[in-house]
Amino acid sequence: AAANEFLNIVGLINESNKILVVGHIMPDGDDISSVLSLSMGLQKIGKEVVSAIDWKIPSYFNEIQEVSSIKTFEEAKDFNPDLIIIVDASSPDRVGRFSEILSKFKVVVIDHHGTNVFFGNYNWVDSSFGAAAQMILRLNKELGVKYDERLAHINLMGIETDTGFFKYSNADERVFRDAAELISLGARPDLIARMILENKKLEQFLLLSRMIEKLKLDCEGTLAYSYLSQEDYKEFNCSEEDSGGFVSEIRSIKGVEVAIFLSEFEKGEIHVSFRSKEWFDVSKVAVILGGGGHPRAAGATIKGNIEEIVEEVVRVTKSVLEGERK
Ligand code: 5GP
Ligand code: MN
Ligand code: MN
Repeated sequence: AAANEFLNIVGLINESNKILVVGHIMPDGDDISSVLSLSMGLQKIGKEVVSAIDWKIPSYFNEIQEVSSIKTFEEAKDFNPDLIIIVDASSPDRVGRFSEILSKFKVVVIDHHGTNVFFGNYNWVDSSFGAAAQMILRLNKELGVKYDERLAHINLMGIETDTGFFKYSNADERVFRDAAELISLGARPDLIARMILENKKLEQFLLLSRMIEKLKLDCEGTLAYSYLSQEDYKEFNCSEEDSGGFVSEIRSIKGVEVAIFLSEFEKGEIHVSFRSKEWFDVSKVAVILGGGGHPRAAGATIKGNIEEIVEEVVRVTKSVLEGERK
């Protein structure tokens, strides 16, 4: 079915002229890579393209100049496309306010989340891919897009970031083959790693100490969690985008299977990030809490008081973890 849907989508793109490419809220490297790589590919084959994400793009991506071409919801909402293509998003709530206009258009969803709810008219969903950017690479090639260095570099960013810089269990042979292909076309994995991992503001580095102070372990050291409130961010002169990567730090503790990091956003919503190391399916817990994701990386967004939500999330996670422990 996935192969059919892929060819249906290729056909749809070929017969469309104006295409809106939409990414997900709280955009990450795979999302930005997928939005830009698809948009650049479509432009190369002569389409009129608008790229948009209904969320502020974290400033460390600004080193990629093309990021400035991504429009806000307000800038994109009057475009009136023949086709909307949504990338790396598992459900309509993940596209922010674009969810309100989807019913007026033909919608294609391209995604690799096992929790995808097939909310497009056409859905190419394949959770065997480590990154949505790998799906875009295949789509671009099928559309006859010629890769230059810039497109190769941007396309690699998604594969590199969603595999944790090629170290997670989703970094399979196909990931390395796709990466090698893009590197041979001019992509620079070292520059991507440096831009994201070695580009911290001092304040952001110090903020980590607050997260560590608040760290708690439970379930005989297999569950570890921490959180940051708006006061914490303000005290360190930081904002919520400055805690990217903290949940992976928590997972890096010996013996920890499940790591949880909760972050209070300025709007008052709490974002929960889950990571697991070897066997626990965190996407199950995320789905219970109204979110989604992958077996080893998932998330949810919840409204309410941060301390209460920390307790609730830990309670739900513990009950699933204790029920499934090997
Ligand atoms: P992160 O913890 O980095 O924000 O997200 C980890 C994974 O969970 C990503 O694949 C992301 O798409 C998914 N995810 C994060 N937050 C949410 C959410 O609020 N809702 C849903 N459905 N998925 C989320
Ligand atoms: Mn993503
Ligand atoms: Mn992804």
